Amino acid sequence: ASNKHAANSQGSNTPEYSKLWYPYAQMKSLELNLEVVEASGVYLTMSDGKRLIDGISSWWCVSHGYNHPELNQAMFDQAQKFSHVMLGGLKNSTTEAFASKLVEITPEGLNHVFFSDSGSVGVEVAIKMALQYFFNQGNQKKTRIVALERAYHGDTTACMSVCDPAEGMHKMFHGITPEQFFLPAPKGGFNASTETIDEELSKAETLFQTHGESIAAVIVEPLMQGAGGFNIYSPEYLNRLKALCEQHDILLIFDEVATGFGRTGKLFATNHTDIVPDIMVLAKGLTAGYVGHAATLASTKIFEAFLSDSYSKAFMHGPTFMGNPLACAIGLKAIEIFERDNFLGNIETIESILKEELLGFEHEEIVETRVLGATGAIEVKDAKFHQGIQQFAAERGVWIRPFERYIYTMPPFVITPEELRKITGVMKAWFARPR
Ligand code: PLP
Repeated sequence: ASNKHAANSQGSNTPEYSKLWYPYAQMKSLELNLEVVEASGVYLTMSDGKRLIDGISSWWCVSHGYNHPELNQAMFDQAQKFSHVMLGGLKNSTTEAFASKLVEITPEGLNHVFFSDSGSVGVEVAIKMALQYFFNQGNQKKTRIVALERAYHGDTTACMSVCDPAEGMHKMFHGITPEQFFLPAPKGGFNASTETIDEELSKAETLFQTHGESIAAVIVEPLMQGAGGFNIYSPEYLNRLKALCEQHDILLIFDEVATGFGRTGKLFATNHTDIVPDIMVLAKGLTAGYVGHAATLASTKIFEAFLSDSYSKAFMHGPTFMGNPLACAIGLKAIEIFERDNFLGNIETIESILKEELLGFEHEEIVETRVLGATGAIEVKDAKFHQGIQQFAAERGVWIRPFERYIYTMPPFVITPEELRKITGVMKAWFARPR
């Protein structure tokens, strides 16, 4: 159905808009011509019967493809026991097992898991955890959070406060959140030179020297800033940032909502580095994109700061659906499949195809092409350049959704080389179309 305003059913001229309010959309002019009726593997089936390859895994989360028989079964089996039960005062073996599994597969030292229902809330939990870590030690001064320019950490208010105020999606809300600082977005790619890192971290050092006493934590999307434009940067930057943080008693939070579960070529972006953050946030691929869920993992040092003989130091957070057993049952099965079916091998193949197809690709409109793991992006000079690309791609059997100056793919890990080449082929055909 069209979302365009039309005379309403009473015949008055009051526009009748869609009852469903869509995300990041101007509802006055939104027109949706594509309706999904079924999805399986990497394919979305539309109401007219056309099948599109999902080139962006439904906002980067459907890692195992749609309608996976084993994930369906895991969900069904759990639903027959109970689909939800609160964590306040009750334990259940599915959620307990998932927490243990996450501790087992994440970098050594992250020993405790706090669940929540979306990536944004997972980040919110991480920030609150960092603040309360210091409050619990009687330090009320450390209330500021440092983030990177171009950062994107979610849609809620505290998350917004660590989104880039100058360029990020939430710039209109800037100022209503607690004061914080931004460091320059790291440059130079995965193999950035020591000089580049020196220069960038000298800014961090100056900031920490001047304001370290009021800074609780630094939060980053490790190795790749996603919604900030697929800015890939070096593991060495992170190694050295951690050392600087330690010198100034500042916690380091890795937001692995987008990078976690294989997207950068290793299970976690952290695995490319020599360090372990104090707090790490996972979502999206946590449930293979089946249902919304997030996990905020904390090191022993963080966890122990919340222990006391009275209730006073307990962590003050607890979303209704945290640790939802359906999400945890699916998540457990998703990890089993990831390991058993060697998804890291698939991702290696995806990365080499993306490099082959995109890295040498040149056109006067292109600023740069970038690839890391199962992400390939083309940055163009002008966001207007890709107006119409969604329809162009859909007509050719591919679903992609560029934003700002970025045309990109983040396919499900079960994609075949032929299907992946179809996506990159369509991306490149857009540049070659007659204009
Ligand atoms: N953090 C990062 C790095 C993200 O990319 C996203 C979503 O794209 C979020 C947090 C927010 O996650 P959610 O959309 O599940 O709230």
